[in-house]
Amino acid sequence: MDLHEACGVFGIYAPDEDIARLTYFALFALQHRGQESAGIATSDGTRIQVFADVGLVSQVFNEESLSNLHGHIAIGHNRYSITGASQACNIQPLVKNNGNLSLAIAHNGNITNYTALAKELTDKGYQFKTTSDSEVISNLILSSTERDWPSRIRQSMNRLQGAYSLTLMTVDTLFGIRDPLGMRPLCLGRIGDDTWVLSSESCALDHIGAVFVREIEPGEIVAIDANGVTSFKKASDKHALCIFEYIYFARPDSIINNRLLYDVRSAMGAGLAEEYPVEADLVVGVPDSATPAAVGYSARSGIPLGMGLIKNHYTGRTFIKPTQNLRDLGVKLKFNPMRRLLENKRIVLVDDSIVRGTTTPQVIRLLRKSGAKEVHMRVCSPPLHFPCFMGVDMATKQELIATRMSVDEIRDYIGADSLGYLSLDGLVKSTGLPKNEFCLACFTGAYPIPVQLEMDKLA
Ligand code: AMP
Repeated sequence: MDLHEACGVFGIYAPDEDIARLTYFALFALQHRGQESAGIATSDGTRIQVFADVGLVSQVFNEESLSNLHGHIAIGHNRYSITGASQACNIQPLVKNNGNLSLAIAHNGNITNYTALAKELTDKGYQFKTTSDSEVISNLILSSTERDWPSRIRQSMNRLQGAYSLTLMTVDTLFGIRDPLGMRPLCLGRIGDDTWVLSSESCALDHIGAVFVREIEPGEIVAIDANGVTSFKKASDKHALCIFEYIYFARPDSIINNRLLYDVRSAMGAGLAEEYPVEADLVVGVPDSATPAAVGYSARSGIPLGMGLIKNHYTGRTFIKPTQNLRDLGVKLKFNPMRRLLENKRIVLVDDSIVRGTTTPQVIRLLRKSGAKEVHMRVCSPPLHFPCFMGVDMATKQELIATRMSVDEIRDYIGADSLGYLSLDGLVKSTGLPKNEFCLACFTGAYPIPVQLEMDKLA
């Protein structure tokens, strides 16, 4: 099945704006959440149009494609795909019709009861053109026996299991939907009096001149039309925001749960400095994701911060490359170490996570080749012991390096002089939120939803 974890979703309702262009700029700001494909769907009140293709936002759209997208409602999507799952048919937004009903959907997350629901809908005669679980969501909504859209969506939500933050559009209404556990972020913003936007992250609002209004609550549906915003809430007693949004996915200038990501990541670095102090000359963060954490480590330890590694921003995230060989090359293409800063220095190297253990040994080798005398590795998250079934490309259990090796063995494998992983309590403390707000399953194995079926597939 097709996973799309940290995809970026966006939506806009604007009677007087160039909606396609604003969506395009918002997708630029959400590009870090997915670089595999991009798409925009629009509606002028009678008809839904869509333009989407593989590639970065800047590669997919040009003047012509943007000026052909008309209307006052739009949704947009940046897709992140895992190894092997990159199929052109799964590009979003996905447009589906059933009789006189039409909808377009942009999805961030992963539906864990996909197989059972897909079978049920196929038996009922619904067709699937993709392997995407977003099509299950669409078909479920279109097959609903309820009469209005919010009730159709609610009925479908009662059947769906897993993670989903959605922007969804009918010909005349924009919807924002967040799963009851609130696993992926989604927020609401406003431009002027009657332009409303929905976005995976608040950083996109800043870029397009929208003000942040609030987050969509777990389990909430918002409907946006000529009457403004109508909310349909359903209290959910359990929340499970993916903590990797704080560790890695979201941009540091985004705000999630009233926390600026930059502050949370700096606190992780400061926590590491307390838990794993070391005598050293320079703190270097693996750019860009670990830069705020390196700032925090340096501030708390008093060891100066230096930009020992320069990142080429135009190579894309190494994870996205489909094969291990390409991933290996990706690290060299991505970082350039600066000898003048590193030579004869004892370095504290800060990164956000070690997943398969591909990146870290190569980065450490780069630093040593550039004259670093010692490299002390500090990681902003605890060892990853369990795979993710809620959409994060965390590899299978065997691929996770921490399931095969002890911390000492990993230290030797990555070639570090010392290795410190931030404790789970230290990580949660950095967020300033209670532990039970989060999904921590990749560290603890305590999954917020039943995953036995998925486990069996891996076994
Ligand atoms: P690995 O090389 O497999 O150990 O992956 C660790 C690196 O990938 C770190 O530098 C992270 O910044 C980055 N990373 C962590 N989680 C993810 C993810 N789910 N998708 C893409 N990159 C990630």
